[in-house]
Amino acid sequence: MYINENFIKLPQSYLFSTVANKLKEYRESHPEADLIRMDIGDVTLPIAPCVIKAMHGAVDDMAAAETFHGYGPEQGYPFLREAIAKHDYQERGIDIPANDIFISDGAKSDLGNLGNIYSKKSVIGVADPGYPVYVDSSVMDGRGGELLSDGRWSRILYMECKPENGFKPAVPSQGVDILFLCSPCNPTGTVFTREELKDWVEYAHRNKTLIIFDSAYEAFITDPDIPRSIYEIEGAKEVAIEVRSFSKTAGFTGLRCGYTVVPSELKGMDREGNEYPLRQLWNRRQSTKFNGASYIIQRGAEALYSPEGRKAIKENIGVYLSNARYIREALEKAGFSVFGGDNSPYVWAKWPGEDDSWRLFERILSEAEVSSTPGIGFGESGAGYVRFTGFNTTENTHKAMERISRINFNKGNDLEEDFTTLNDVKAIKALDELDVLDDLTEALGI
Ligand SMILES: *Cc1c(COP(=O)(O)O)cnc(C)c1O
Repeated sequence: MYINENFIKLPQSYLFSTVANKLKEYRESHPEADLIRMDIGDVTLPIAPCVIKAMHGAVDDMAAAETFHGYGPEQGYPFLREAIAKHDYQERGIDIPANDIFISDGAKSDLGNLGNIYSKKSVIGVADPGYPVYVDSSVMDGRGGELLSDGRWSRILYMECKPENGFKPAVPSQGVDILFLCSPCNPTGTVFTREELKDWVEYAHRNKTLIIFDSAYEAFITDPDIPRSIYEIEGAKEVAIEVRSFSKTAGFTGLRCGYTVVPSELKGMDREGNEYPLRQLWNRRQSTKFNGASYIIQRGAEALYSPEGRKAIKENIGVYLSNARYIREALEKAGFSVFGGDNSPYVWAKWPGEDDSWRLFERILSEAEVSSTPGIGFGESGAGYVRFTGFNTTENTHKAMERISRINFNKGNDLEEDFTTLNDVKAIKALDELDVLDDLTEALGI
């Protein structure tokens, strides 16, 4: 038999394993180290009691013939689809019926599987840096083209995110067939405003583009002016699929449950230009290749929409958000250039003058015993940045930031080469390293 050779083309992603290995090595060579993990991409707080109670009840249902549940509907149980439609959409003024909501075992599966319903020839657009699933799953399906020497794929359009555009992708001048957008974004922590989302929806209408809107972190949005759903934008139902997850919202990373909205208004074309509702294709795909999420887990997810459930989500997210805000403020004060950390658990940071993510990672690890994730692992445009997350305890978060603010980044470097602008000097001032500042001021003649 012959294999799908796209898998051979796909380079191994070494990001998380390299980080893990480096942390292991560090622990072995520094057995006394009090390492603080700020690279965690997973929630850490336990599941809310009302969810646990609902799941216990569902387990008991399985024990009696009258309440036993076998195969459920592939689209998910009506009780959960209706709760989602009511609380996540209709109560917020968005007209999404339960029938357009498909329950899944998580957002990652859906983001990868959606590739089944659009053409193999589709041109994909992604933000760089971005969540790696968009590119890797497209490559597996044969939509990558060739791997170029800069690590990018020849058939994929990369929308570069830079400090100049606030680490948010700009609407490209060319059209693409499929556009992956993520807000709040992993890894940069940035969010799209209503105006920006309007531009994307308009772009999609103009270019007949399908937007796959990943809003796995929508529950972290506290600013009422920032849209939590793309369907808050007029005309979005004709161009966008929305993918969501209970993972980061409610600590379901180990339980596995999410959902995808495919509005009945959304259509795609065949080669002759005939239109077909995508909802029908996705329904067919799910009915054929998926047998539904677990009844027990769906009962647990349903409990999140009870008053207790909503309160618990708010409290948990509040902890992560206040950690992220603290990280953002502490790093800014220490002189880092920082994005995200508002409406998001992620903080994206760079030390001025250091353009190598791995060197910055090593420096923070060896001098503060704090781990981060090198931004280059999320794409070429992530070079120089590292990602910090709010998924630790408040106590550890504060301790980690205190240590980082004490790092003398200037030490061992060529002053003139690395800090040549007045802004950089000002940044260092915040470190309270006054003798360093004196040296610098002298070196630069300011
Ligand atoms: C965590 C994450 C997901 C996947 O969530 P699951 O539901 O656990 O599969 C999807 N998109 C982004 C951006 C994420 O960070």
